[in-house]
Amino acid sequence: MTIERNPTRSVRIGTIAVGAGHPIAVQSMTATKTQDVAATAAQANALYEAGAGVVRIAVDSPKDAEALAEIRKLTKANLAVDLQENFRLAELVAPHVNKIRYNPGHLYHHQKDRPWQEKVEFIINQAKAHDCAIRIGVNCGSVDPAKKEKYDADDSITPMLESALEHCAFVDSLGFDRYVVSLKDSDPSKVVDVNRRFAEARPDIPLHLGVTEAGLPPDGIIKTRIAFEQLIGTGIGDTVRVSLTVPNNRKPEEIAAGQGILDDIAAGRVRSVVQLNPNELNIISCPSCSRVENEAFVELAADVKEMTRYAQQYAITIAVMGCRVNGPGETDDADLGLWCGPKVVNLKRGPESIGAFGYDEILPQLKKELDQLISQR
Ligand code: SF4
Repeated sequence: MTIERNPTRSVRIGTIAVGAGHPIAVQSMTATKTQDVAATAAQANALYEAGAGVVRIAVDSPKDAEALAEIRKLTKANLAVDLQENFRLAELVAPHVNKIRYNPGHLYHHQKDRPWQEKVEFIINQAKAHDCAIRIGVNCGSVDPAKKEKYDADDSITPMLESALEHCAFVDSLGFDRYVVSLKDSDPSKVVDVNRRFAEARPDIPLHLGVTEAGLPPDGIIKTRIAFEQLIGTGIGDTVRVSLTVPNNRKPEEIAAGQGILDDIAAGRVRSVVQLNPNELNIISCPSCSRVENEAFVELAADVKEMTRYAQQYAITIAVMGCRVNGPGETDDADLGLWCGPKVVNLKRGPESIGAFGYDEILPQLKKELDQLISQR
C-alpha cells in the first residue's frame, strides 16, 4: 500500500532528516541516570543498534550537561535532549546534541517574570549557533495554564493545539524553520484528533507522533498502534516514538515496536477496527527516563496492572508515573494516580492528594481507593 505522506518540509537531525518524504524515523529515550555516563552511553548505543534514528536524553542540571558531553564521545547515535523548566541549560547542551526538545507548558514555572518569548528566543539562538533542530513538544499533562483557562475543562485538545500553533508562529518570526512539533496525550483518540487538526492548520511542519504514558507492553503497543494507524495511514507523521514501561535492559523494544507498526502500516496490515474499550479499566504509565526516582517503578507499574485485574469491567483510569517532574501534573486527570518519590509513592484521587505510602504499602492503599470508587459506580 502506498501512503501519500503530507508535504511537510525537511528537517535535518544530525545524520538523518525527517519530513518531506524521508523514511519515518523511530526514536526512543534513555532511562538510565544521565550522570551514569557508561550506562547511558551503553543504552544510547543499544537503541542506535536497534535502529533508533534519534536517541533522547533528559538533562536537568549542569552536571547532567557535563555527562552529556562525555556521552556524546561514546556514541554515534543522533542525540536529542529534553529540557524541562530550566531553559538556560540549552546553552550547555546545544554543543553536544543534534536536537533540543522544549515543552511550551514548562516555560511558565522557572523565572516567572520573564515572558516565554524571551526563553524560546534563547533556546532558538542556541540551536542556530550549534546546528541543532528543535522539537516543540506539547504534552497533555503540562499545557500552558492560560490556554487551558480559555476552554471548557472537557476540551483538553484545543489548548494544546493553540499552544503549539502559537509557538510555531513565534519560532517562524525568529527566522527558524528547522523544527518539528509533537502533540502527545495518553488517549490515542485525542492524539489522532489533535494531530489531524494541527496537520490541517500547518501542513508544512513535520510531526513527531507518540501516545504518552502508553504503559506496559502489550497494551502500550496496542494504544500506540491505534493512533499511528489512523494518522500515518492518512499521511500524517514524520517520526515516531512508542513509549513503553519496560526495564532498562528492554528499552530497544520501543524501537522494535515502532518499526513493527510502521512495517505493518506500509504493508497494509492495519487493524483499525481495534479501539480501546472506553468502558474498561485503563492503566497509563510513563516509559521512565533518567528522572525516575526509584528503580522499583517499572515493577510497581506491573504490580498495579496485576492487582487491578479484578476491576477490568469498570471505566476507571489509573496513572502510574515515575517522578516528581511530570508525576503530579500528569496524574491530575486520572481517577486514581500514583507518582513515585525515592522512598514513597504519592497517591491521588483525581487532582486531590491522599497521602504518601511506602513501596510495600501502596498496593493495599490503592486497592482500598479502587474498591471505594467501584462501590460508587
Ligand atoms: Fe521520566 Fe518522570 Fe516522565 Fe516518567 S514521569 S518519563 S520518570 S519525566
